[in-house]
Amino acid sequence: MTDLRVATITGEGATLDGAAVDGFRDSLRGPLLSSSDAGYDETRKVWNGMIDRRPALIARCAGLADVVAAVRFARSRELLVSVRGGGHNAPGVAVCEGGLMIDLAGMRGVRVDPAQRTARAEGGATWADFDRETQAFGLATTGGAISNTGIGGLTLGGGLGWLAGKYGLVCDNLLSVDLVTADGTVLVASATENADLFWGLRGGGGNFGVVTSFEYRLHPVGPVLAGPVLYPFAKARDALTLYRDFAGSIPDEVNTLGELLTAPDGNPVAAIAVCYNGSHEAGEKVIRPLRALVPPLADEIAPTPYCKIQTLFDEAFVRGRRYYFKSNFTRRISDEMIDTLVEHFRVAPSPMSMVYFQQLGKAANRVGATATAFSHRDALCEWGCDAVWLDPAEDAANIRWAREVAEAMRPFTTGSDYVNHIGLEAEEGTDRIKAAFGANYDRLVTLKNRYDPTNLFRHNQNIKPTA
Ligand SMILES: Cc1cc2nc3c(=O)[nH]c(=O)nc-3n(C[C@H](O)[C@H](O)[C@H](O)COP(=O)(O)OP(=O)(O)OC[C@H]3O[C@@H](n4cnc5c(N)ncnc54)[C@H](O)[C@@H]3O)c2cc1C
Repeated sequence: MTDLRVATITGEGATLDGAAVDGFRDSLRGPLLSSSDAGYDETRKVWNGMIDRRPALIARCAGLADVVAAVRFARSRELLVSVRGGGHNAPGVAVCEGGLMIDLAGMRGVRVDPAQRTARAEGGATWADFDRETQAFGLATTGGAISNTGIGGLTLGGGLGWLAGKYGLVCDNLLSVDLVTADGTVLVASATENADLFWGLRGGGGNFGVVTSFEYRLHPVGPVLAGPVLYPFAKARDALTLYRDFAGSIPDEVNTLGELLTAPDGNPVAAIAVCYNGSHEAGEKVIRPLRALVPPLADEIAPTPYCKIQTLFDEAFVRGRRYYFKSNFTRRISDEMIDTLVEHFRVAPSPMSMVYFQQLGKAANRVGATATAFSHRDALCEWGCDAVWLDPAEDAANIRWAREVAEAMRPFTTGSDYVNHIGLEAEEGTDRIKAAFGANYDRLVTLKNRYDPTNLFRHNQNIKPTA
């Protein structure tokens, strides 16, 4: 191949000679793509249609050895690197401009050990991949609420999900990982091996290396009592107040989401969605208050296969649309927050947009703030504002709306964003990134100094080394 201009971590850029690129290609089992290759454009695209970056090279890794080769190649030439797991991150940090994208989309295998109640999944698997395999044995672990989200990014940032009331966050169910560090070394991290690193991988994001496989603890999960109840928008304040009271008083078996959104018939509505993971008879009693507020427009809470509830919101988040998200953790939901969300939702420029509260979950709250790198254990929930639209000409109006909602909500929140919803430092600023890691930031810097002193893995919610 001809010489190739690439972005580097020095910021100066470099030229790779064609022979070096050919040698790198030959060292891989999976394909290495550049802009002239078939499939390049499709591969560089991620879930958010707003993201339009062009890596100089994309290594479509077929296994751990390819990841090792890609990391070593990048490290030796100081290439700018990004890592793609499920490619679902809204700010699109999986794709870098001009550098090397290490693409794990071809690594999606999942193996369940039903006797031990564990599962091991490759770093590019999605929750749909994972849930399908584990549910074949009637097992599951806490996973993200959209089925095509990657297990990779979501787990490393903490991982909120329907089962967190009983089993904690996704990262609380992580048992071990296989990781390729910045110098191309392969390590196992678990409670007993490289325990400091294991601590950092449970909430510290993609800062410490490429995880080629994740091992999780599983739990018996049968059909759940789950689904949404919809209320007229005229009762939005009452519905969100009910949500607050309900979320504050539920048993471990339940987790919740409260939302304002536009129904398929074009009318704005308030919704409370629940997932009760336990006896349906007991669950019916617990959810009764949700049915008592005015006659609901629709009551879709019913016994549901777990894999189905994991796709409940998929249709609202179609791949390729334009997305801009803002969110923050909050310890309580005040009347002012409810008013602010209702008023701002009324003027959303796009009917596809929504605002929501996603509950952390009771078991997730019981873990200590420094027990894992995910520090926001005292949050009741994350509030979020998802701007969703189709036309690039409407980018500015939708982004402005999301920022305005976030500014209006900020005084009522902890001021800490969820790591998995914030983007690159240039967009977010250093302080917001530090706040997202909360009290654990300094310990994470110590780990970064040890495992990635040249900051190869910076194209994420970047923790800067000081070494
Ligand atoms: C519509 C929507 C719904 C969501 N719902 C939830 C939810 O219910 N719960 C929740 O907790 N979060 C949720 N999220 C946030 C989600 O956790 C993040 O978007 C997460 O980054 C997605 O992971 P991914 O692997 O698909 O990301 P990617 O875009 O592939 O990667 C994002 C970053 O994660 C890191 N990364 C990914 N895989 C690996 C790996 N194997 N090794 C090392 N680093 C890796 C890299 O730094 C990468 O840059 C949601 C996001 C969206 C857009």
